[in-house]
Amino acid sequence: MISVQNLSKVYRMGEHEVHALSDVSLTIEPGDFVAIMGPSGSGKSTLMQILGLLDTPSSGSYKLYGREVAGLSDDELAILRREKIGFIFQQFHLLSRMTARENVVLPLFYSQRLEQSGPQGDRLLKMVNLSSHESHRPNEMSGGQQQRVAIARALVNEPTIIFADEPTGNLDSKSEHEIIEILRSLNSSGITVIMVTHEDEIGRQAKRLIRMRDGKVQSDTRLTPIEPTTAPVTPDKTTPGTSSLSATLGLHLVQAMRTLIGNKVRSALSVLGILIGVAAVVAMLALGRGAQVAIESQLSSLGSNLLVLRSGPSRMGGVAMDSTVRYGLDPDDGDAIKREVGGLRDVAPNVSGRAQVDFKNRNWSTQVLATTPSYESMRAATPIIGRFFTEAENRSRSRVALLGATVVRELFGRDSPIGEMVRLNRIAFQVIGILPEKGASGWRDQDDTIVIPLATGMYRLFGKQEVDSIDIEMLDSAQAETIQEDILMLMKQRHRVPATSTDEAFSVNNMADIQKAMSQSSQTLSLLLAAIAAISLLVGGIGIMNIMLVSVTERTREIGLRKAIGAQRIDILYQFLTESLVISLVGGTAGVVLGVSATMLLQTTTGWTMQVSLSSIALAFGFSASIGVIFGLYPARKASYLNPITALRHD
Ligand code: ADP
Ligand code: MG
Repeated sequence: MISVQNLSKVYRMGEHEVHALSDVSLTIEPGDFVAIMGPSGSGKSTLMQILGLLDTPSSGSYKLYGREVAGLSDDELAILRREKIGFIFQQFHLLSRMTARENVVLPLFYSQRLEQSGPQGDRLLKMVNLSSHESHRPNEMSGGQQQRVAIARALVNEPTIIFADEPTGNLDSKSEHEIIEILRSLNSSGITVIMVTHEDEIGRQAKRLIRMRDGKVQSDTRLTPIEPTTAPVTPDKTTPGTSSLSATLGLHLVQAMRTLIGNKVRSALSVLGILIGVAAVVAMLALGRGAQVAIESQLSSLGSNLLVLRSGPSRMGGVAMDSTVRYGLDPDDGDAIKREVGGLRDVAPNVSGRAQVDFKNRNWSTQVLATTPSYESMRAATPIIGRFFTEAENRSRSRVALLGATVVRELFGRDSPIGEMVRLNRIAFQVIGILPEKGASGWRDQDDTIVIPLATGMYRLFGKQEVDSIDIEMLDSAQAETIQEDILMLMKQRHRVPATSTDEAFSVNNMADIQKAMSQSSQTLSLLLAAIAAISLLVGGIGIMNIMLVSVTERTREIGLRKAIGAQRIDILYQFLTESLVISLVGGTAGVVLGVSATMLLQTTTGWTMQVSLSSIALAFGFSASIGVIFGLYPARKASYLNPITALRHD
């Protein structure tokens, strides 16, 4: 069954070489009970670990069931370990977070026989006489009890060989006796037992006694003949495990949750990192998207048929203007354009500025727009209550005003302002209407405004001789270019701009162009905001990686044990990946919740337009999940590549 030829193991420690095993050759038949004895450092453990497939020899051949082990891959060895071999350690190596029962059935998880957990757990706990302790954790059990749990665990996949390396080395003599009895009865049921021991008395109870010294077999005595066993010599278990994928994943998840809950503060901190990142991404994207939507809706409410005529070049840098002659626009320009340029619906010259508005003892600073009656239809400004001013009122510079909803609320509260007299920069105006509500756009309140007749504004309020700009509405935006040219021609002619002048005396901007430029810049803004938020997500991810690396180092022995009982690389990989995924998904979910609530809170307190889009939630969530995978992968891989015996020796 076991056949080794010229087996050697050399440990290299820097310059120094330790020949732990030199030229060991032996065969072991099924059903045997072998005791290996010898002084400390004689290579007993090394031999056991190689025979138990936890370690590989430096040279020589090892055939298990006639199969050369040297060429097998890490995963093939793992499968052999869990199907054929049970290993019992001097230090028990139980997982401290798990109960006795969970420790016993753990190998079934890796052999995908989860469905046998119930019956096998019952049977083996009963066999080692620990049924009453099934829900105790290792630190709630005596050494002897822990070792019995470890034996039950070694048996759960029904191995054909049991290796026990000084199984009673840490135990009192009563427990020692119990353990040996269990091993003897296992042997009589047909399982091959190979055991290292210090005690002569125990050694004599075996069927064969091998003494080692300095890495060599010194003597090999048969004490009792091997009885022909009833058990099949090679009970080749070819029934592969049949655990369903969901059960396996579920158990990975349960284990990950336990580990994370076991390290509450640490897990909470790494969740927090992701949480803040995701919340920031969601809120920032909402803010950016909101600004964009607001700008777009504001501009589209103006319509793409709108042109704006201004004096001076379309570059709005103030510096360049000083050197050129300024040609001011006047209200008559508006009339002239309306009269002489074809394809127009309406024209509205306007001036604007800030003013202090008083009513009784309340006052408020607001934006005042002076314009012509055409504004009402061009900007959809038909009053909800009251009326717009007339051309006659404009011409006679009447002191009448229309208030935006915010101004009404600030000055009048719930009372009706119609007919009341308010003072604009100390000049009395009669309120004749309330403007329709337009809502906030980005961070600007469009309802914080007052509209008055153009002439009143120019001559009485602002004392301006020129208009700031002239809004022009076209019938059809397709004609925009010719209309723009016509307007510029007319203006140059009216203001006698010399034909030789190369300066741009006037400029006409198309709303569609402005719209495009604005939405582009707001898009850039949202990207920038999201990028900043993404950086915090990245930092959160690095946090996860850090925690996982610590966790891998800290749990090196656990990883070694899991591999020793048959976990393949992929199992270890999944274990750590699940943990980091859980962290980032919990953080992601909480982050989305926080981000959305922060958005709503900001929106109600500041009045900014914000818009949480489903895609931004999906993005943040996907991003955090991938951060879990990406930053979890490296530590997980690192863990999965550990050699079982090096990992077990780690302290
Ligand atoms: P035993 O179990 O018989 O006490 P071991 O097999 O543990 O002996 O060790 C045999 C020799 O190999 C000893 O000299 C020991 O110091 C050395 N040795 C064991 N493990 C290692 C290791 N991981 N690195 C270096 N030397 C080791
Ligand atoms: Mg040893």
